[in-house]
Amino acid sequence: MVENTESESRKLLGRLRETMASNVAGQARLDKITQLIADSMGTEVCSIYLFRDEETLELCATEGLNRESVHQTRMRVGEGLVGRVARTGKVINTADAPSARGFRYMPETGEERYSSFLGIPVQRLGEMLGVLVVQSKDARNFSADAVYALEVVAMVIAEMTELGAFVGEGSAMSPLHQQSLLLKGVSGQEGAAEGHLWLHEPRVVVTNPIADDPHRELQRLNEAVDELRIGVDKMLEDTGSVDKEQAQVLETYRMFANSKGWMRRMEEDIARGLSAEAAVEKEQSLARGRMAQVQDAYLRERLSDLDDLSNRLLRILTGQGKDTGAELPENPILVARNIGPAELLEYGRKLKGVILEEGSVGSHAAIVARALAIPLVVRVGRITTEGLNGDHVLVDGDQGVVHLRPDDPVVSAFRDKIAMQAQAQERYASIRDKPAITKDGQRVNLMMNAGLMADLPSLQNSGAEGVGLFRTELQFLVRNQMPKRSELVVLYQRVLEAAQGKRVVFRTLDIGSDKVLPYMKPQDEPNPALGWRAIRVGLDKPGVMRMQLQALIRAANGGPLTVMFPFIAQFEEYRQAKEEVKKTIEREKKLGHVLPSKLEIGAMLETPSLGFAPLKFFEEVDFLSIGGNDLKQFFFAADRENERVRKRYDTLNVSFLSFIERIVERCDMSGTPLSFCGEDAGRPIEAVCLAAMGIRYLSMRPASVGPVKSLLMRVDLGEVRKIIADARHRGEQTVRPAVMNYLREI
Ligand code: PEP
Ligand code: MG
Repeated sequence: MVENTESESRKLLGRLRETMASNVAGQARLDKITQLIADSMGTEVCSIYLFRDEETLELCATEGLNRESVHQTRMRVGEGLVGRVARTGKVINTADAPSARGFRYMPETGEERYSSFLGIPVQRLGEMLGVLVVQSKDARNFSADAVYALEVVAMVIAEMTELGAFVGEGSAMSPLHQQSLLLKGVSGQEGAAEGHLWLHEPRVVVTNPIADDPHRELQRLNEAVDELRIGVDKMLEDTGSVDKEQAQVLETYRMFANSKGWMRRMEEDIARGLSAEAAVEKEQSLARGRMAQVQDAYLRERLSDLDDLSNRLLRILTGQGKDTGAELPENPILVARNIGPAELLEYGRKLKGVILEEGSVGSHAAIVARALAIPLVVRVGRITTEGLNGDHVLVDGDQGVVHLRPDDPVVSAFRDKIAMQAQAQERYASIRDKPAITKDGQRVNLMMNAGLMADLPSLQNSGAEGVGLFRTELQFLVRNQMPKRSELVVLYQRVLEAAQGKRVVFRTLDIGSDKVLPYMKPQDEPNPALGWRAIRVGLDKPGVMRMQLQALIRAANGGPLTVMFPFIAQFEEYRQAKEEVKKTIEREKKLGHVLPSKLEIGAMLETPSLGFAPLKFFEEVDFLSIGGNDLKQFFFAADRENERVRKRYDTLNVSFLSFIERIVERCDMSGTPLSFCGEDAGRPIEAVCLAAMGIRYLSMRPASVGPVKSLLMRVDLGEVRKIIADARHRGEQTVRPAVMNYLREI
């Protein structure tokens, strides 16, 4: 057997480089490579299998097996030993392949004669590209050295594949990043957009995976790592002790940057003939592979820190930084593995859509995308590895899918859809300045939800009559540190200025549950949605709430002010919160600040308990707003973030509507103004039913104002009320079918 020493590896890599540089077709190159590897490893067989499509591998070149089986032999992922390597991303090394679990006999290849099998995944940055296999007649277990040598070769093959070195006939050898793909994800924000892909983190392309001077490469690596360490230390210094969370992440970076194991592995890779950047990428690929397997959230985060660090190192080594000189394409669709809310805000309204490989519907980036009203699809696997800057892309935020490099028929169908949406928008624009008055003369006030400066232009564009819910926590969520009071004053002033006298309902900080401030210690709670959140935090630790109230009073500057407390579950909480407002007013008076001309203090009804509060509560509160998102989750005991259970219960369920009706009745009895500000207020059919139940104020995302108004103007609420009552009488679970029938007729 040939020794798999470092010099042997380097020799092999040197030959691979010659093949790469040679001016031959992809197939000839691949054939030559299998020959070189078999020769160097001292095996009778070397084969390369590449992915034909997501599910199937195809034998693309072989030395030793029947040549006729090339491009004929195919297997599904998971099938046979090769399929198993592709599925698990793990090496299989066995001296007795025919007895190994999962072995599949493929007569056309003539492989029954071979006993030993060594299969190595060919992968690049977590993307599986194929499998490299060597086989021999003698029953041998390949040494750790041999496995390692072949891993290095697999890495080079992966890079060569990415660089397009193996393009040839047959779909397994068709050029990468050119096929059209339909990628499925999860909808984070509805809407459709067409544009060109823009990678938030430009992909680093390693054009020289093989190097012949290991000393030089080692030196390059060491210099780059030194630069990296200095950079991390500098970032730590800048962060200081203010931002503990950030400092913790940087400490982890520093730990990795100084990690001997990480360095040693990269040094070994270089000794085998890889260039410095290929060595970094090899370790990064392995870490990504591990990341996909690890369940533990903490470990996953550490691996993702390492991934981030590797990216920095690659940028230093290749000089391909964030600033590549490339310009944002026309109609940019942003693609990232993940993105922070502040970074997303920086792009702002320039973007037409956002696609995230990770991310979640409830993430802060999703909140920002919603505020910017751009379609967002999250959890789109492979988008960062498949997509190239400038690629044509269609984002379907309604269906949660992405068409990458779409074919013409898909494009034209999609454009029809966008055109229809644009037509509808025109219709809505024509009624923008009209009040929402139903056929039976009922006036419904349509307000908008907001929380970011980016929302403010919508106040004029949407036709909303005011801001029914200003989520003040968003300003806290998009920062790395607690905003100062003076900053909040300026911010709230700007909101009030933009409102031009229209009513703005400021909700005090609603944190906890899914909204965790990056600079506050996360609570280790078994059930955060039912935990220490919103007003509970505000009353137990009133410092921030007091600061916020002061800022609001100062921003009102002698004008009217409307404040609302989130998540009030019992009367006493409202009383205490109101007491805080009174105390703050007193304090502000003493300090000589001008007080609001009119002050309204409301509560959000988000737990069923408040619907049953004493009538005295309804009399005392200045107004109530139903937070339907939370109320529904507690009414049905179904997590609002959990797709599986969330969709099970319809808002138009008769029990839920009956509960809403009861709240309306109690508010009528006490003369308490009532609004509804959950997501359902922005869904036209739901909005009509809520109005039919007696709600006269609906607050929704700006883009929903038009569609909701348009439908309200066409309905007779008295008739809808009767239809709901009849459906309820018949014992139906939801009134949706009956209401839909009516709406179809109008
Ligand atoms: C709600 O719960 O309906 C609501 C409007 O508040 P948030 O979605 O911010 O919890
Ligand atoms: Mg809520």
